[in-house]
Amino acid sequence: DIEVAIKVVIVGNGAVGKSSMIQRYCKGIFTKDYKKTIGVDFLERQIEFNDEDVRLMLWDTAGQEEFDAITKSYYRGAQAGVLVFSTVDRDSFEAIDKWRVKVEDEVGNIPLVLVQNKIDLVEQAVLEPEEAEALAKRMKLRFYRTSVKENLNVEDVFRYLTERYIER
Ligand code: GDP
Ligand code: MG
Repeated sequence: DIEVAIKVVIVGNGAVGKSSMIQRYCKGIFTKDYKKTIGVDFLERQIEFNDEDVRLMLWDTAGQEEFDAITKSYYRGAQAGVLVFSTVDRDSFEAIDKWRVKVEDEVGNIPLVLVQNKIDLVEQAVLEPEEAEALAKRMKLRFYRTSVKENLNVEDVFRYLTERYIER
């Protein structure tokens, strides 16, 4: 029996890898030219945590982030959130504060985590590792570096949020 279901919102600028992360985590696949929308509001995955069955519902923005049109219904009832930026997109890094404000304006204080995706492209990084660490420290957020492409650390992100949610 499912005891806990958690709505997780994944936010960040366009092209940082949000849809890919959801696909990777819920379907176990990565595609290079993954479509903008997944056609549904969310994908889900069931995991075990402390002998409980937990259902994670990962909500995708379907590209609306690009014209600032994310609707209230996207955020409504969110119980955890992932703030994502890309190793190769400086703007996405600088937009993280704004994304946190948006989430918290809609749903208040929920467990959040900071993610630097596309770490496989570290050779082309547009920020220093210390900058990302300083951001996480200032925002008081747990920080993960992921590669959705190489399937690096993706599971850890959602396990951490699950733990934070359950032990809240
Ligand atoms: P979204 O707009 O945030 O949903 O980003 P997408 O999931 O659509 O990804 C944008 C592009 O980045 C796509 O071409 C993905 O294949 C690519 N991408 C996503 N994650 C990674 C990653 O970890 N490494 C690399 N190299 N490319 C990635
Ligand atoms: Mg997307």
